Amino acid sequence: MAEPLQHRGDHKVVVIGAGVGGLVAALQLAARGLQVTLLEAADAPGGKMRQPIVDGAAIDSGPTVFTMRWVFDQIYASAGASLDEELKLMTLPVLARHAWSAGEEMDLFADPAQSRDAIARFAGPAEAARFVQFCRQAREVYDALEGPFIRSQSPSLASMSGDLGLKGLAVLAALGPMSNLWDALGKHFHDYRLQQLFARYATYCGSSPWEAPATLMLVTQVELDGVWSVEGGMHALARSLATLAERKGATLRYGQRVTGIETDGGRASAVITEAGERIAADSVVFNGELSALGLGLVGDAARRAAAPLSPSQRSLSALTWSVHAETTGRFRLDRHNVFFQPDYAHESGDIFARSRLPRTPTVYVCAQDRGDPSATPERDRLLVLVNAPAQDGRPLNESEIDACESHTFSLLARYGLTIRRTPQNCLRTAPADFQRLFPGSAGALYGRSTHGWMSAFSRNGARTRIPGLYAAGGSVHPGPGVPMAAMSGQLAAATLMAHLDSTSRSRRVHISGGMSMR
Ligand SMILES: Cc1cc2nc3c(=O)[nH]c(=O)nc-3n(C[C@H](O)[C@H](O)[C@H](O)COP(=O)(O)OP(=O)(O)OC[C@H]3O[C@@H](n4cnc5c(N)ncnc54)[C@H](O)[C@@H]3O)c2cc1C
Repeated sequence: MAEPLQHRGDHKVVVIGAGVGGLVAALQLAARGLQVTLLEAADAPGGKMRQPIVDGAAIDSGPTVFTMRWVFDQIYASAGASLDEELKLMTLPVLARHAWSAGEEMDLFADPAQSRDAIARFAGPAEAARFVQFCRQAREVYDALEGPFIRSQSPSLASMSGDLGLKGLAVLAALGPMSNLWDALGKHFHDYRLQQLFARYATYCGSSPWEAPATLMLVTQVELDGVWSVEGGMHALARSLATLAERKGATLRYGQRVTGIETDGGRASAVITEAGERIAADSVVFNGELSALGLGLVGDAARRAAAPLSPSQRSLSALTWSVHAETTGRFRLDRHNVFFQPDYAHESGDIFARSRLPRTPTVYVCAQDRGDPSATPERDRLLVLVNAPAQDGRPLNESEIDACESHTFSLLARYGLTIRRTPQNCLRTAPADFQRLFPGSAGALYGRSTHGWMSAFSRNGARTRIPGLYAAGGSVHPGPGVPMAAMSGQLAAATLMAHLDSTSRSRRVHISGGMSMR
């Protein structure tokens, strides 16, 4: 689709939303000389990377696990900056601490040999050998899919089959056609607890391990490749991207909700803010939930840009508690901690089939001041999270939420972690709150769930059905998660630039950082 050729410096882009996808798109477009204005409804950048103040403490209350740092190394480099100079990142020696009951605990480490030894102590040497085999397969799957799927602009089954090559096809065939993640893990691990541990990675994409394709084991590989902590919390990453975008000439305006996208001759031409301001645009990048477009939340003209998700396509929501409190008990808190319960299938059934909060939740606790053995804060800044259904099925009521809260904190206490909560030091965020924060999401935090083999190909790419309107964020390809949403911002910028440079000789889209995508 050829767009009229225009001098780059005259091209006005409005980016709607300062989530990581929007920030990266704004940064890259400003760095290439376009006139970029970013409008964000909240009063700070970050979107889900938010950091509410609870009892005087800023608590990371969205993403906490920072992986795939190379994505950000490339993004910063493409803007002539260095990630290491802008932010302080530390490699975490312990990826996560896992518990199945009081005293039944196992860590995974950044060093694979340490993880193997930990598994050998926990579940025996045969299981440790199976872990090594599993890592080999997860690595092969990741390597096979990184180019043809993750980095590809808008992969289809046909394009991917061609790009995979014989080796890649063999890797996927070895997983077993149509196999789901749970079953694939069952072929590796004999110990249910390890099957459960690695299956939980499906929830990082908001999906059920019983419905996610076995290829989702690549998420495990992403974490085994390294987890970093960011000084100042994940929110500091958003602030840093915002500052860099401004340094490159972008204008970032907070407290500006966009209520309309106008079109002219079928092409995006302006946005309207809640306050009634009209801002003309040659191109618009939408970083909100993609479904918001189809639902008409940014005006009727944008409805046809993308169809909204149906309730069954929604990914997980969450029930979270941001807490600033003293912790006691025998459990040694690390930065990332997961507390499992024995019946994982029941939890998944509650959420996905029965659309209710789990009676027996798996509980994740991020203690953002831990990770360094010398750190023993008087009060911890904690994010406690259990998975929950999205809200466009049956809405959850307060008594269900209270019951889940009591199951959650009593499970932690049984496993040796008591958190001294008070109404003042604890902020609860339920699926309905996420829906308010991220309109059009129904509280689902990861866009479309990755259920079934074809689902990964069903995500929208950076183009929408409206010329001049692009999409970036966790609800578009390559999917949810901070680095993936950042890549979607790169893809939106690259797609827009390719349209602008429509004199280019080929249809290949070049995205900054030296990557080339089809
Ligand atoms: C509790 C939780 C835990 C998570 N854990 C992890 C993790 O550990 N690791 C990981 O990698 N990922 C994690 N994720 C997922 C990750 O946070 C997201 O995939 C990613 O941050 C999404 O970024 P995005 O670009 O889609 O923008 P979003 O974060 O969705 O932000 C979109 C922005 O657009 C704004 N907006 C929307 N509509 C409008 C409008 N009309 N006008 C103006 N502004 C608008 C919103 O206010 C918002 O700021 C987690 C998410 C949550 C919520």
